[in-house]
Amino acid sequence: MIAAPAVVGLGGNVGDVVAAFRRALQSLDQTDGVRVISVSSLLRTAPVGGPEQDDFFNAAVLLAVELEPAELLAVLQALEVAAERVRAERWGPRTLDLDLLWWADQSLETTALTLPHPGLTERRFALQPLVEVAPSALTGDGRRYADILSTLPSEGVEVIGGPSLVYDPTSTDNGGSESCRT
Ligand code: AMP
Repeated sequence: MIAAPAVVGLGGNVGDVVAAFRRALQSLDQTDGVRVISVSSLLRTAPVGGPEQDDFFNAAVLLAVELEPAELLAVLQALEVAAERVRAERWGPRTLDLDLLWWADQSLETTALTLPHPGLTERRFALQPLVEVAPSALTGDGRRYADILSTLPSEGVEVIGGPSLVYDPTSTDNGGSESCRT
């Protein structure tokens, strides 16, 4: 199977979110058929929708994937469970949210999976890190995500660190000493 480029969005606003991101990225990199290619900067973003809650941290990762999209989604959901995500409230606080944002040349809509992720083109917290790791990514109808990003308002999204703050796929030490607690 030829590896396909795919982008996963990471988010969270409970506990040490960056540690949760690192653990998830390390697990992804160690999953058969999945390789971490590059990671975006770390964003701090104001919550969109849901109850009053802490700001989120967000990032995105470009993967080379030799699995089917549904198989990758299952891997992501297992990692969310491993991060002890509390699913009590829709759009509520969460330790780790992993969304399959984009998969090269794939549009699909099943009960379990919609690709590209619905809402991607309206949410700067998802689109900005996606464009950072996949600057030439296109929508199904051939528009550049980078062009769509330039039309979105920039309020509520702040870059707080470079990609190495999140995860370095070339390093063997991603334990890190810095902590980002909400
Ligand atoms: P959430 O609570 O926002 O993480 O949504 C999880 C639900 O969205 C799961 O039931 C998934 O099957 C579904 N879903 C549909 N499309 C996607 C996607 N592209 N990435 C992640 N989850 C998706």
